[in-house]
Amino acid sequence: MKVLVPVKRVIDANLKPRVKADGSGIDLTNTKMSMNPFDEIAVEEALRLKEAGTASEIVLVSIGPAQAQETIRTGLAMGADRGILVQADGPVEPLAVAKILKAVAEQEAPGLVVLGKQAIDDDCNQTGQMLAALLGWPQGTFASKIEIAGGRIKVTREVDGGLQVVDLAMPAVVTTDLRLNQPRYASLPNIMKAKKKPIDMKTAADFGVDTRPRLEVIETKEPPKRQAGVKVASVADLVDKLKNEAGVL
Ligand code: AMP
Repeated sequence: MKVLVPVKRVIDANLKPRVKADGSGIDLTNTKMSMNPFDEIAVEEALRLKEAGTASEIVLVSIGPAQAQETIRTGLAMGADRGILVQADGPVEPLAVAKILKAVAEQEAPGLVVLGKQAIDDDCNQTGQMLAALLGWPQGTFASKIEIAGGRIKVTREVDGGLQVVDLAMPAVVTTDLRLNQPRYASLPNIMKAKKKPIDMKTAADFGVDTRPRLEVIETKEPPKRQAGVKVASVADLVDKLKNEAGVL
């Protein structure tokens, strides 16, 4: 079984984003970019399926600028087999990404597509769901555990207030949640090996997908600064403030 893993190049999760002075978006000049953390979890899960003998090939796909090749190389260094870069400059919204992924899935015919539950730059949490709908495949989102047997996949989903298990026919779309696994670091020999693994270069036009944005960003703002705290002299003082100032009691 082939596993397709879409990986997005995003601002590094350890950085604090800077809003552009004119409020038109996030300033990414000279900013460290990395693989979306939920996509690292997706790559790790695919690797575990391959190590268990369930998956035979792991194909990574990224839609983004030429530098997204580095993101693919990171996944290849973790152990994936090959990559596809669909080159597109500027932001590509989830619907266009899902349409491109649908075309790639139709060409590659994977048994499973494992995406992150969300990309940490725009926090859309839409692409996996849209892809499943466009393909007409079952979906198991926010996965914290997966089990594959007899052409079906059992996905344990993290939902509000507990866990839900869904049993899906394959091919299927799964999106990863934080607790699914702890992604590995690439070893030096694997980083060297990854340099020789193939990355197929494509464009959105090759798949007949129009990537022009449909959404207009009106404004991007920093979150409001937190107010300074106050020290209270006694419990009675605290209760009084909670009651009469914060209004939470
Ligand atoms: P989103 O719906 O934008 O929050 O993204 C959810 C998931 O879709 C991500 O974790 C990736 O697995 C995948 N994805 C979104 N955008 C891209 C992209 N440009 N290239 C590759 N995968 C993507």
